[in-house]
Amino acid sequence: MAQFADVILPLPLDGTYTYNLPKSFSNLVQVGCRIIVPFGTTKFYSAIVVKLHDTIPSYTTKDATELLDSSPIVTDKQLKLWKWIADYYLCTVGDVYKAALPSGLKLESESSVMYNKDFIAENTLTPAEERIIQALEEENTQKLSTLQKRTGIKNILPVVKRLLEKDAVRIKEEVKRTYKPRYATYIRLTASFFDESRLNDTLIQLKRSAKQVDLLQKYASLSGVSAALALQNYQLLKEITKQQLLDYAACTPSVLKGLCQKGVLELYQKPIGRVTQQYLPTDLVMHQLSDEQARAMKEIKEAWKEHDVCLLHGVTSSGKTEVYIHLIKEVIEEGKQVLFMLPEIVLTAQLTDRLKRVFGDRLGVYHSRYPDAERVEVYQKMLSDKPYDIIVGVRSSIFLPFKNLGLIIIDEEHETSFKQQEPAPRYQARNVALVMARTANAKTLLGSATPSLESYYNAETGKYGLVLLQKRYGNVQLPMIEVVDIREMNKKKMMNGPFTPRLLERIREALEQKKQVILFQNRRGYAPMMECKTCGWVPRCQKCDVSLTLHRNMRQLTCHYCGAAYPIPQTCPNCKEQNLIGRGYGTERIETCLQNIFPTARIARMDLDTTRSRLHYEQIISDFQHLKTDILVGTQMVTKGLDFERVSVVGILNASTMLNQPDFRSYEHAFQMMEQVAGRAGRKDEQGYVVLQSQDVEASAIKQVVQHNYTDMYKEQMQERSLFNYPPYCRLIYVYMKHRNESMLDSLSRDYASLLKQIFGQRILGPDTPPIAKVQMMYIRKIIVKIELTASISEARKRLREIQQYITALPKYKTALIYYDVD
Ligand code: ADP
Ligand code: ZN
Ligand code: ZN
Repeated sequence: MAQFADVILPLPLDGTYTYNLPKSFSNLVQVGCRIIVPFGTTKFYSAIVVKLHDTIPSYTTKDATELLDSSPIVTDKQLKLWKWIADYYLCTVGDVYKAALPSGLKLESESSVMYNKDFIAENTLTPAEERIIQALEEENTQKLSTLQKRTGIKNILPVVKRLLEKDAVRIKEEVKRTYKPRYATYIRLTASFFDESRLNDTLIQLKRSAKQVDLLQKYASLSGVSAALALQNYQLLKEITKQQLLDYAACTPSVLKGLCQKGVLELYQKPIGRVTQQYLPTDLVMHQLSDEQARAMKEIKEAWKEHDVCLLHGVTSSGKTEVYIHLIKEVIEEGKQVLFMLPEIVLTAQLTDRLKRVFGDRLGVYHSRYPDAERVEVYQKMLSDKPYDIIVGVRSSIFLPFKNLGLIIIDEEHETSFKQQEPAPRYQARNVALVMARTANAKTLLGSATPSLESYYNAETGKYGLVLLQKRYGNVQLPMIEVVDIREMNKKKMMNGPFTPRLLERIREALEQKKQVILFQNRRGYAPMMECKTCGWVPRCQKCDVSLTLHRNMRQLTCHYCGAAYPIPQTCPNCKEQNLIGRGYGTERIETCLQNIFPTARIARMDLDTTRSRLHYEQIISDFQHLKTDILVGTQMVTKGLDFERVSVVGILNASTMLNQPDFRSYEHAFQMMEQVAGRAGRKDEQGYVVLQSQDVEASAIKQVVQHNYTDMYKEQMQERSLFNYPPYCRLIYVYMKHRNESMLDSLSRDYASLLKQIFGQRILGPDTPPIAKVQMMYIRKIIVKIELTASISEARKRLREIQQYITALPKYKTALIYYDVD
């Protein structure tokens, strides 16, 4: 029976903290369980136990207050992976803990609880419980810390926990000690009142309370009491939820309470499963692989004999997914698990349906856009003794507890959304997956039509296996790409808004032939910028160093960095003229222009603004699939893995905006995006067209896209990377510094850089002011650390941490934020 537990807190803190284990549960705690611990004077958190021991620490320890789990919810393997991530990506294990578990499994003083309006007490509540309920009746949702202050209850957690178990309150985001399926509360007539004369008597007796009479009558009509009475069959009563009745009768719960106390009506509960049980027949027999695909599959398995990782470079529509399905089948038949990772914004609807129809309920989906409760459910199932055999998920699915992983597939492995940018941990899920596979002794398959240079380099140099699939399935040809020069068209005054004549002609043809069109523009909103035509004034965000994007539909200007919204000014505040215009074309404006040109075409738009909810996203896709839409306009969301039969034309509205990004990977990304979106065009019987509009038609990336020539792009970019010493020829660590005070930040970044230069010398570049130099009132500076492949990266990391500790210990820099972005 251990006396102490070392725990990880869900906070950006380094290392573990030690707490006393009270006798009441010290013999029940295991490593990987959550215990509730106090932190500071008022806060408390659910912390993960990582070590149990009897070594008395040098400082006085506080008592842990609760044990939340009877068995571990985080496995040893996961804890090791968390540590690896924290170490490699220069963040804390607490950061990783925060990212790794769905909110529903993290309980802390910052969690909000809400009153469950469905609740009716069966037994009397204790005074403390009453106090909490009262406080919540005044304000439905409150943070635990606020509740604690308001009610003056010292140790609020056990009380809240009891209320949670009674389902009187719920944690917003559904934090539950043991996860229970959600219940719906139903209402019915009690069996003893299922009697015509007794019911009539009751109505007469209730005369004084008109509201109760009304409610009872409304219940009777909803549930069909008279029909059930006529047939003397209690089972015929229709099931009515409490909410349904209250809504219908428009009365308060207290009226209902009265009838329940009199024994006329009673409440009962029925569980409703959370993970929406969408009916999908498992009717899809697997396709027979084509000869090409069968060869690829054989080669992949050969490659795995020598390499843990294999890269499948297959052009769009070559049937990579088909190959994945066959591989998955073999692995799960050996009794092993498969993780199938997809990029963030492709929603999986199309692909998961296809997989579900092959694998049925052996497959679970883990997606950040799904409700947290569903993620909790998937997580819990993975812990259970009947876990899913296959998980289809986005980058966070690397945090699931796999027991017996045999294969990880990373589809569209080049996608940037595998890298988390904000907040820490800023991890690259593809790399973490490789580490995870290695420790599990599993194989990895990376798949892409346009592999990342890093992966291709690893394949070329023999670190990964490489398998090619160069033909589209059924020998469909790759689309024909027509490049149109926007500058020339502008000069000749032939542009129609954002469209060149060529593109409009292709769209018209497609519409006439009842084909579909996809238009791609990398900017959302109406116009990326507003400007005064008289004086040149441009509205900017007050908190960030960026111009605002005009969103006409939402009638506002929006900052795409901090999300702040501003009203659209009618007159220019600078010169007072009414001469403000939108500059440039976002997806919203393109949609409007297009509708003017093709008034009868059915146009849909897919970008962040139209797909805030998963349902909207799925609706747009499904409408397009069922030919209810002719033209789909969108941001990079339309470039990903969508598979539509009737798309014959793809338009890329302006390639230059992608090519002119200040990032060494921008060329690579532009090529990938264009090649991917081009891949949406053309299907079974005919070649598709891509109209590629650009201001700069000479750019080599454009030529490479025209020829679908990945290897040329690869060679050219690798030369540049080698020349300027960029990855994969070195490792990069970006050091970001943020501070509210710009001059303080300048002195901090200079001090920091000079300390770094003492150790790393020429490898340090900067400090620089990034293109967006201020976000949310914080100024930003950046230092780049370039480390040779031969040097020890762990040594470099250690040094970085040391310097950071030294710098942040200086009082003047105490409020600075410093963080890292690795690779
Ligand atoms: P990728 O993932 O490489 O883009 P997909 O696997 O989506 O390609 O295949 C493209 C299309 O070809 C899909 O509609 C798919 O159903 C079809 N297809 C691919 N391989 C086969 C096969 N072996 N048998 C029947 N249809 C196939
Ligand atoms: Zn002006
Ligand atoms: Zn802003």
